[in-house]
Amino acid sequence: MIDDVVRSAATAFESYRRFTGRQKGELLRAITAHLEADGEAIVETANRETSLGQPRLKGELARTCNQLRMFAALVEEGSWVGARIDRGKVDVRSMRRPIGPVAVFGASNFPLAFSVPGGDTASALAAGCTVVVKAHPAHPETSRRTARAIAGAVPAGVFALVEGFEEGIELVKHPLIKAVAFTGSRRGGRALMDIAAARREPIPVYAEMGSINPVFVLPNAMRRRGAEIAAGLHASVTLGAGQFCTNPGLVIAAHSNEFLDELAEKIAATPCAPMLTPTIAGAYRSGVEKFATIANRRSFVDGGAALFTADAATFLHREELMEEVFGPSTLVVECESREAMLEVARAIEGQLTATIHADDDDDFNELLRIVETKAGRVVFNGYPTGVEVVPAMVHGGPYPATSDGRSTSVGTRAIERFTRYVAWQNAPDAALPDELKEANPLRIARLVDGQRT
Ligand code: NAP
Repeated sequence: MIDDVVRSAATAFESYRRFTGRQKGELLRAITAHLEADGEAIVETANRETSLGQPRLKGELARTCNQLRMFAALVEEGSWVGARIDRGKVDVRSMRRPIGPVAVFGASNFPLAFSVPGGDTASALAAGCTVVVKAHPAHPETSRRTARAIAGAVPAGVFALVEGFEEGIELVKHPLIKAVAFTGSRRGGRALMDIAAARREPIPVYAEMGSINPVFVLPNAMRRRGAEIAAGLHASVTLGAGQFCTNPGLVIAAHSNEFLDELAEKIAATPCAPMLTPTIAGAYRSGVEKFATIANRRSFVDGGAALFTADAATFLHREELMEEVFGPSTLVVECESREAMLEVARAIEGQLTATIHADDDDDFNELLRIVETKAGRVVFNGYPTGVEVVPAMVHGGPYPATSDGRSTSVGTRAIERFTRYVAWQNAPDAALPDELKEANPLRIARLVDGQRT
């Protein structure tokens, strides 16, 4: 069955990869229209399956549709292909081309924006790739419903949905699949990376995995704004029952009783919220139990929010404290000195985000230089949850936050993951794609003989 689906995606790729930017834009806008037309039922189904609540899911559907429109506008304008022309002794012209049929593994925690109609699907379709999504079993009906909306808007074979754990593996192993996109756990992402690498023809895997999103609070910011930062952190840690990949699971802070008391009080008063699946709730419970054996439990709601503290030495010696506890839990590592804070920063693994709370008179330059090497996005005086869907966004980061820190799964650069460069040498004008033709009929931005045009 997987073989039939992938063969059909490969056949459809032969014509879909030749779609113009305008045709792909139309297709992406048609998907948006189908999703919006069925919006009420989609939100209701997703709410039944995830308990995320109607307001959040309505917002997520709007975000999903905006994402599709953002990619439609990108491909309609056309310059994203990065066309370069060098008319020297030999004539060399190059641009990005679609890579082939792509396998997408939807996430559990965003049933729309990072699932069947989400950013991976949108960016792969925008690139000119056909897509086969492996549904996440946490929201099967939502997956099927949104898949029907997409399939109704595209030619046969351009999009398909499959279900089942073994089917997902078969998909990644299939020789006609040319790339994989994934959002989920480190264990799952790593398994798919290994399967893809062991293929006769290895293929790229773009896996967005766990992240603990460190938040650094420097001494002067702590002294002047400790209570305010505690309130902001609490809101960020507990948002959506902590089920965000950008959840701040680690706070590295100058010591402050006021800050800790305020955060502890707020955590203790946090009502329990249902989690996405019994498996995720079970993993959260065991993560919290494990932390309790290593760090100090400052505040805890049974089955709900949790706050731990540890000193820098404990954190540096117990690498388990660097593991993601997916849910409303955070660990505050208290640092007695600037050097201790820098040492913790140097020890941290790759992250999706790193946040610095600093006032103008805080000494943060060295810290900034370190975190820039660790994270895909550096946030100043804010909180990491809430990823803006804008062209400049980077939602990525060095391993283990993702399998390939050179890319992003949000923002228009996400399209680049599903392309490869092709150069044409001394090709006749008529044989070139329109983007590279001498007369530039699409009027796109190009680099011609080293000059931006
Ligand atoms: P997951 O277990 O990694 O599953 C994600 C997808 O990958 C599912 O479709 C799953 O299939 C598949 N999969 C997992 N392991 C696989 C393997 N070894 N071989 C082939 N396919 C595999 O993630 P999850 O179910 O969303 O949640 C579990 C944990 O992931 C959470 O507790 C949290 O730690 C983390 N998480 C992280 C993020 C993030 O954005 N970083 C988001 C959500 C969850 P089946 O379900 O069919 O087995």
